[in-house]
Amino acid sequence: MLKKTTSIIMIIILFLNLTACVDHEKKRYEADYLTLFDTVTRVVGYADSKEVFSKQAKQIYDNLEEFHQLYDIYHDYEGINNIKTINDQAGIAPVKVDQRIIDLLEFSKEAYAMTDGKVNIAFGCVLKIWHKYREEGINNPEKAKLPPMELLQEASGHTDISEMIIDKKKSTIFLKDPEMSLDVGAIAKGYATEQVSRIAVKNGFTSGLLSVGGNVRAIGTKGNGESWNVGIQNPINKDGEYIDQVNLKNASLVTSGVYERFYTVGRKNYHHIIDPNTLYPSEYFLSVTIYCRDSGMADALSTSVFNMPYEEGRALIEKLPDTEALWVFCNGEVKYSSHFKDIIKK
Ligand code: ADP
Ligand code: MG
Repeated sequence: MLKKTTSIIMIIILFLNLTACVDHEKKRYEADYLTLFDTVTRVVGYADSKEVFSKQAKQIYDNLEEFHQLYDIYHDYEGINNIKTINDQAGIAPVKVDQRIIDLLEFSKEAYAMTDGKVNIAFGCVLKIWHKYREEGINNPEKAKLPPMELLQEASGHTDISEMIIDKKKSTIFLKDPEMSLDVGAIAKGYATEQVSRIAVKNGFTSGLLSVGGNVRAIGTKGNGESWNVGIQNPINKDGEYIDQVNLKNASLVTSGVYERFYTVGRKNYHHIIDPNTLYPSEYFLSVTIYCRDSGMADALSTSVFNMPYEEGRALIEKLPDTEALWVFCNGEVKYSSHFKDIIKK
């Protein structure tokens, strides 16, 4: 949970920290950045020298920053039409956008269809209300309140994703409903991580681990051919031991959990993933972790499966190739999809 002041500092500070340790002929390096997607980005890689790694990490950072600005729903950037511009122009006019926005929105539409609407980027109107009440509740805990149901229901009348018109020929996006608003928070981080990883591979970065706020994407293997190892946080005791450690080779691991962002009203915590059926924070699980190749898909699935009853989520995961899930129930019980055990580090 990031305090407001911390996130402001994070926006203005770029923190680059390079460390290295020997592994065979190549060395392991790490770089941390605190300015993207309101979270911590970590690049790990094996390279011949610090200079080589620094250059690669900088390219990754620069690319991620471009995606971050394009997918931002809160800030304007000079000379850029981003998702905020599209929202500002809802009901007014189509907005000409970069191909990377068109690609994200098309991908998000597919994710909506695949998950029976459990992840809906057109849900901004409802999410904005929760965001406002959460911010107020965090800043002023003794006055923390829940949004009235009438307000949420009214907003839910403006979440029809078919009102988002993508004109591929003209490269424009138009939100027909003037009240409608896009929130790509459930998908954009993972999607950007995937695209940037692919660019990095093309640029010769063949051994790395990219983590954007816990959206983890492994590029190749460690320098010596071994898998990367990534821990799955225990949502009950965040600072305690991992639930499991997973082997990753050219694959992604993404978790959605109740502990990421929340506020407290009357001793109960209200987190940031909203169930479209109830318009309230989803109550099925403490966390859901998804393993699959594509980090954008892993992000979309982590949010949507979090919003589904176990049986429904399991049926979806089992029919997708090379996709696994781990569910942590509210009583702490852990369940795994059929082949999850194959990726657990022994
Ligand atoms: P995080 O971004 O914390 O890693 P998620 O990937 O699960 O976690 O995304 C959560 C974000 O997705 C929320 O902060 C909100 O912006 C957005 N969101 C919440 N509920 C939904 C929903 N039902 N459909 C689409 N987006 C959602
Ligand atoms: Mg997600």
